[in-house]
Amino acid sequence: MIIAPIAMVFGLVMGSFYNVLIYRLPRKISIINPKWSFCPVCNHTLAWKDNVPILSYVLLKGKCRYCGAHISLRYPIVEALTASLFFVSVYLTNNVVNLMALWMLFSAGLVAGAIDFEYMLIPDSMVIVTAIGGGLWSWNHGHLFLSLMTAAFAFGAFLLIYLVSKNGMGFGDVEYFGALALFLTPFSAVIAVLLASISALVFVIPMLFNHTANRKTRVPFGPFLAIGTSISIFLNFHI
Ligand SMILES: [Zn+2]
Repeated sequence: MIIAPIAMVFGLVMGSFYNVLIYRLPRKISIINPKWSFCPVCNHTLAWKDNVPILSYVLLKGKCRYCGAHISLRYPIVEALTASLFFVSVYLTNNVVNLMALWMLFSAGLVAGAIDFEYMLIPDSMVIVTAIGGGLWSWNHGHLFLSLMTAAFAFGAFLLIYLVSKNGMGFGDVEYFGALALFLTPFSAVIAVLLASISALVFVIPMLFNHTANRKTRVPFGPFLAIGTSISIFLNFHI
C-alpha cells in the first residue's frame, strides 16, 4: 500500500506542527505569529534545517544550535507517535472519511494529552476537533443519533462526577469525554471509561511504589480517556 508511507511522512510533518500547538496553546501564543519556530530559551528563530522532524533532533544531539540549551525529548516523541498513528490508521480502515476521523481523534488526543500532562488543562480547540472527528465517524458508521445520545449521557455523567468530587476531575475532562463519546455507543462508552481507568492505574501504581507520586498527586485523565476510547472503538461493540 503506497498510501501508508505517505501517511507516515504526513504524520511527521503534522507531528512537528503539533509540537508548536503543544508549546503555544497553553501559553496563549498565536499559532501563526511568530510564523517560524523559535528556541524557547534563546528565542533564536529556527532555520528549516533545525526543524526537520526527528532528524534535526538526532543530528543536533538534542541541543539548540544557537545556545546549546537542551531540547525536550517530547519533540521527537510527538513526531514519531503522530507518524506511527497516521501509518497504523491506514490499516484500521479503508474508508477516507473514517481515516480523517481517526487522524482527528489521534491528533487531538496527542496535543490535548501532552498539554494535560504539563498544565492539567485540555484546550477547547482540541475538544472541538475531537467532536468533529466523532461526528464524522458515527455518521459514517450509521449511528450518529445513538452517539449523540451517548455523548449527552457521557457529558452528564462526567459533569455529575465533576460537581460531586470537587477538583477530583477537571471540567476539561467533562468536555473532552463528551466529545470522545461521539465516536462511541452506550456500551463501548462504558468500556472506554473502564479502559481509561485501568490504563491510568497502570501508569500511577509504579509511581506510587517508587514514591515519585503520592495519594495527593493529580494525574491528568484526558490522555487516558483518549487511549480508552481509541481501543474501545476497535473492539467493535455495536450497542
Ligand atoms: Zn537556543
